[in-house]
Amino acid sequence: MTIPKIAVGDTLSLKKKHPCGSSDFEVLRVGSDIRIVCRGCGRDLTLPREKLEKAIRRIHHPEDAKENGGQTP
Ligand SMILES: [Zn+2]
Repeated sequence: MTIPKIAVGDTLSLKKKHPCGSSDFEVLRVGSDIRIVCRGCGRDLTLPREKLEKAIRRIHHPEDAKENGGQTP
């Protein structure tokens, strides 16, 4: 079992869609609870990390998108 790594600024595609129809959420804050904002309607919600991890279908890291000039820490 792999534990997804969630960071602020990531976009999460969840298995469950928001009532507005969007399934993409941006991460605002990470802790024991994770705060995300819906890309579709802009509503933010806070979920326990454990619950959110189970609902993730895919994580988009902003760094992965830009392939030119990327810095590796
Ligand atoms: Zn929404």
